[in-house]
Order: sequence, then structure tokens, then C-alpha cells
Amino acid sequence: MSWSATVFTLYPDMFPGPLGTSLSGDALARNIWSLEARNIREHGLGRHRTVDDSPAGGGPGMVIRADVLAAALDAGLGADDLRPRLLMSPRGKPLTQARVRELAAGPGVAIVCGRFEGVDERVIEGRALEEVSIGDYILSGGEMAALVVLDACVRLLPGVMGKEASGTDESFENNLLEYPHYTRPREWEGRAIPDILLSGDHAKIARWRHEESLRITRARRPDLLP
Ligand code: SAH
Repeated sequence: MSWSATVFTLYPDMFPGPLGTSLSGDALARNIWSLEARNIREHGLGRHRTVDDSPAGGGPGMVIRADVLAAALDAGLGADDLRPRLLMSPRGKPLTQARVRELAAGPGVAIVCGRFEGVDERVIEGRALEEVSIGDYILSGGEMAALVVLDACVRLLPGVMGKEASGTDESFENNLLEYPHYTRPREWEGRAIPDILLSGDHAKIARWRHEESLRITRARRPDLLP
């Protein structure tokens, strides 16, 4: 069984979107993973398929109704569905590479995309949704955040990335940012590739890269270091 994603959204046309191209698109075509985008509006109320209403207590904007979203979730997820149920939300736990690895190692994921001011708190509790944020800024909807989560997971699925080695050395994997990369030409606009990288001494190169990783992490993201 392949890794499967089910996305609950008011804009199913946004999927697979960019995930239909490149590595993730190839992997989708090869059935390494599957994606179902379900329209919350199919469970909307009345002739206009209403999904939202004004916030209790007043204030601007609209809130997605608990009953409508729950009906969409219950129709889309079986009782025996073991996939984590994420709600994209700026209030959520910030997404980390460690969480991405866990999600990629599991059966897949169900993702709810908010819109407007968000969703009624009771459906978060009642359907045990795990709020996940992709960073401290506000998007207009959860769809792009869901695409980010899926992209990060799918590239880790076995057979998606070209080289198995690729991915273990990257930023965040050892609580370090990555060392600098260079490729041909050897000199460009008066800038040379560091000699050590052309020395052929693999132990020295590994040491240099580790030191560069440390230097860059200290300068840019000291919070990552233990
Ligand atoms: N009123 C909310 C923001 C709503 S933004 C607040 O102040 O917290 C509309 C929707 O976009 C959210 O329901 C969520 O699904 C999505 N969204 C916005 N920013 C996000 C972020 N940083 N990470 C994940 N999802 C986000």
C-alpha cells in the first residue's frame, strides 16, 4: 500500500498543483504516493452549500462550521483510518524535519486546510485534529501550507529521491545548517572554489564541511545548537 494523503479543502483545484511536477509528480505517477482532495463544500448546508458563519462573540471574518467540517471528515475518513489528522494553523506546533520524518514513515496523512478566520474550535477537539504551523506568518488559507507538508514528506518516501544518500546530510538533519556547495567552473567572476574541495582528501573535506556547518549555524541559527 502506498503512502496516501487526503486533503480537506474548499479549493480542491489547488491539488496536486505544484506537486504534480518534478520529483513528487513522478512519484505520484508511479503510485509511490496517492493524493485525494475532498471538497468541504460538498457537505455545505442548503442551496448555497454554506460552510461558514460569523464568529460567536462578534468580530471580523467568518469561521468554518464544526458540523460541516465534521461531516466532510467523517465521509472522507474511515473509522479504521490510522493516519494522523493535521489541521494547518498558524497556532499549531511549528513543523520540523523530525515531524516530517515521522509522517513520511507512517501510512500517510489527512490534512484539513482552513480558510477565513479558521475553523470552529469544537471540531478541532471533537475530531482530534493536530494543529500544525509552517511558520510565523499568516497565509490566506491552509492549502499552500498543506502543499509544503506534503512536499517535505513525499521527497523522503523510498524511491522518490535519486540517491539514498541525498537527504541525510541536509540542513536540520543533525541540528546543523548545511555547508556551502560549489560546482564548475573552478573560477567564476574572480571567485575560486576553496582549494580543499579540489584536494581529493576526503577526510579533510568532511572535516571542513562540518566546520563550515558549525560556523554557519552559529552565525544564523544558534537556536539549533544544543
Ligand atoms: N485568524 C487566524 C488566521 C487565519 S488564516 C489566526 O489569526 O490565527 C486562514 C487559514 O490559513 C488558517 O485557518 C490556516 O488553515 C491557514 N494558515 C495561515 N497561516 C498558516 C501558517 N503559518 N501555517 C499553517 N497554516 C496557516
